[in-house]
Amino acid sequence: MSTIAKNIAKVGERIREAAQACGRDAAGIGLLAVSKTKPPTDIRAAHAAGLKDFGENYLQEALAKQVELADLPLIWHFIGPIQSNKCKALAEHFAWVHSVDRLKIAERLSSLRPAELPALNICLQVNVSGEASKSGCTPEELPALAAAVSRLPHLKLRGLMAIPEPTDDQAAQHAAFARVRALAEQLRAAQQLELDTLSMGMSHDLEAAIAEGATWVRIGTALFGARDYPAPPSSI
Ligand SMILES: *Cc1c(COP(=O)(O)O)cnc(C)c1O
Repeated sequence: MSTIAKNIAKVGERIREAAQACGRDAAGIGLLAVSKTKPPTDIRAAHAAGLKDFGENYLQEALAKQVELADLPLIWHFIGPIQSNKCKALAEHFAWVHSVDRLKIAERLSSLRPAELPALNICLQVNVSGEASKSGCTPEELPALAAAVSRLPHLKLRGLMAIPEPTDDQAAQHAAFARVRALAEQLRAAQQLELDTLSMGMSHDLEAAIAEGATWVRIGTALFGARDYPAPPSSI
């Protein structure tokens, strides 16, 4: 069994235990393998061990891997910061974008989504850590952004994504994820949006995220090992 296959089994076990601890069905929690900085051979190994969904942060790197792995039926998620000039390639080459935090980007993604593809799945990234994070809309901006995005024709607004400030304090982890869950509940109640997704939880805090309702956990280090060059989400 490869190291990656063993790591996938361990993470799967963590997910099942966390789900059981809070009375959730683990089938409702997706494992998104974050493969940024890792070679295509690692993605092949993870696919061979049963994973289909892969998340990337850097567009050029992701596109190169997609070409190299075109023989595999993978589902690609973009989870990094988005500049306007990247929208065309994102709209053409991904199934999900988790990191939309402003309307201009959503409008471009919708207008550039090829007509023959299904609607692009979108999560709105919300900043629940205040000034500690530069990415994500504020909780105050979220209702108007969600209302506008939900009306764009070639996008499907699925839910919210967050990258809380990293902390080992379990209570703080729970509080941040609970805030995300509450914001999604407010949107459902106020705007009748059919949100089914909370993209939250990484290698160090997936248990807290699952306890607070995560439906995608985005896991890099615990599957593929430490990254050779650091790309902490709080600094991008
Ligand atoms: C890198 C990254 C992850 C994975 O983080 P790990 O701590 O390695 O599991 C998850 N989400 C985003 C947005 C990232 O940039």
